[in-house]
Amino acid sequence: MTKAQKRTRTNRKPQIEDISDLLSHALALEHEASDRYAELAELMEVHNNIDVAKLFERMAEIEKLHVDQILRMVNQHDVRDLPKKEWKWISPEGPETTNPEDLHYLMKPHHALQLALINEQRAFEYYDQIAKKTTDDATRSLAEELATEEEEHVALVKVWL
Ligand code: ZN
Repeated sequence: MTKAQKRTRTNRKPQIEDISDLLSHALALEHEASDRYAELAELMEVHNNIDVAKLFERMAEIEKLHVDQILRMVNQHDVRDLPKKEWKWISPEGPETTNPEDLHYLMKPHHALQLALINEQRAFEYYDQIAKKTTDDATRSLAEELATEEEEHVALVKVWL
C-alpha cells in the first residue's frame, strides 16, 4: 500500500471518540480547503476567468471562517497538544493524482468546479461518517454540524456548475 492510499484509507474510515481529535482533523481539512480555493482563484485569474476566480475567492473565505471557528473551539476546549493530521484534496482522476501541483492542469472553470465538488462531497462524507460511528455525544453533534456546513458547500458548487 502506498502512503497516499494509506492516508485515503484513514481519511475514509474515521473513528473519532473525542472533540480534540475531531478538532485536529477538522482544522487540517478546512485549512487545506481554504488554501486550495485560494490557489484555484489565482489559477482562474491567470486564465482570465474572473467570474470563477471570484467564486473561488468566496469559497476560500468561507473555509477560512471554518478555520477560525475551529480555532475558537480549540481554545474553548482547552486542546493543548493538537496533533497534526494530514488531509489532502483529491483530483477527479482519483487518489493517485492527489498532488496540488496537478491543479495547474485544470484550466477550465468546469474542471476546477468539479474538483471543488468532489472535495466538498468528500468532506461531507468524512464528517458524516464520524458522526455515525462515534460513541461520544459531543463529538457527534459537532461532526453533524460540520457535515451540514459541507453539505451547504456541495449545494453551492452544484449551483455554480
Ligand atoms: Zn467546505
